[in-house]
Amino acid sequence: MKNWDKIIRAYGLKNALSHDGVALQGPVISSLFHEGLEKKEVGKYVKRIIEILLEINSLSKEEQEKEFKKLEKEVSERPAREGLPELPDVSKTGVVMRFAPAASGPLHIGHIISNMVNSLYVKKYGGKFYVRIEDTNPEKVFADCYKSFKVDCDWIFGNVSEYIIQSDRMKIYYDYAEKLIKKKAAYVCTCSAEKFKKLAELKKDCPCRKNSLKENIELWNKMLDKSGFKEGDAVVRFKTPEKYKGMKNPNPAMRDFPLARINEHEHPRQKKKYKVWPLMNLAVAVDDIEYKMTHIIRGKEHMDNAKRHKMIFDVFKKKYPWTAFMGRIKFKDIPLSKRKIVASIESGEYEGWEDLRLPTLFALRKRGYKPSAFAKLAEHQGLSEVDKVMDSKEYFSLLDGFNK
Ligand SMILES: [Zn+2]
Repeated sequence: MKNWDKIIRAYGLKNALSHDGVALQGPVISSLFHEGLEKKEVGKYVKRIIEILLEINSLSKEEQEKEFKKLEKEVSERPAREGLPELPDVSKTGVVMRFAPAASGPLHIGHIISNMVNSLYVKKYGGKFYVRIEDTNPEKVFADCYKSFKVDCDWIFGNVSEYIIQSDRMKIYYDYAEKLIKKKAAYVCTCSAEKFKKLAELKKDCPCRKNSLKENIELWNKMLDKSGFKEGDAVVRFKTPEKYKGMKNPNPAMRDFPLARINEHEHPRQKKKYKVWPLMNLAVAVDDIEYKMTHIIRGKEHMDNAKRHKMIFDVFKKKYPWTAFMGRIKFKDIPLSKRKIVASIESGEYEGWEDLRLPTLFALRKRGYKPSAFAKLAEHQGLSEVDKVMDSKEYFSLLDGFNK
């Protein structure tokens, strides 16, 4: 429960100090909305707001300063956000947005460049901001992610509503896979990867596409059964609808893409509990449906994925969230991809993940960067699909300018 008296007082003092000692009601109320006060609750608080502001305005400037020092931490660091355009279709309850990093390595500046805006929009409009740890590839889970992502995201965003760990939600993905099979929108394919790839290149249907519902259910159960199919024996595929030209879709990546597969590697969190794992396209679409995302802003590399997710939304007759894509920043001189960072660590160029020269959030925090600097820079850059190649010096000098 928020202590609104304290928050009203803090914003009132802040406003008074920037307006010759006189706090104004309008700006204080709009700050309260940013802090999560619902528009419909204003009536309840308005009398209290007026009383508090009158008290504040009767204080001397010195007294106001002294009191503000004590309450300063009630005020979120929230820069002006002229740079961010308004989002369409924002309801009275605000927006529901997410940051969904793969669990494969530590969070770094690249994640923030494409995703800071999600957190900022939730601060702007109110609503929910989820951080979703995508850890359903047991071979690619950085075991420290459950701890370090939380520390990093609490620090950099400061407004995470909930952390979602995908591998804790396996039953839900299984249910959806089964629903898709029952709706004849998915099938179990037992072709080898090479065979399917050839068929896809030739725009030909895989023979498993004709499986009856009964056959598909049997094969699905055999995937789940501990003594049934082995890794590589079977995958669940989405049946790309006729509306999207099925296996003749002009984009090969859209032709009956896989939704779930068997992977018998031990998972760092779930151990040997599961052998069938949802692929990113299934898990992401399911969570975006289940958590009722309203707006999704993510890296441009997810454009094809977004099209696949929309097809899954269509099957469940759900409206796909408003979507925008962010161009990537590529540094000429420092690695951003996990693969390149790992290679640089292995070659001895960097000491390890905690090397302060790496652009991880851990290192940036240790180096004294403030979250508000990233927020201001994100606002400065706005929404743009254009990729940029720059020298890291150029980027960090911009960031330093906002870090004062
Ligand atoms: Zn097949």
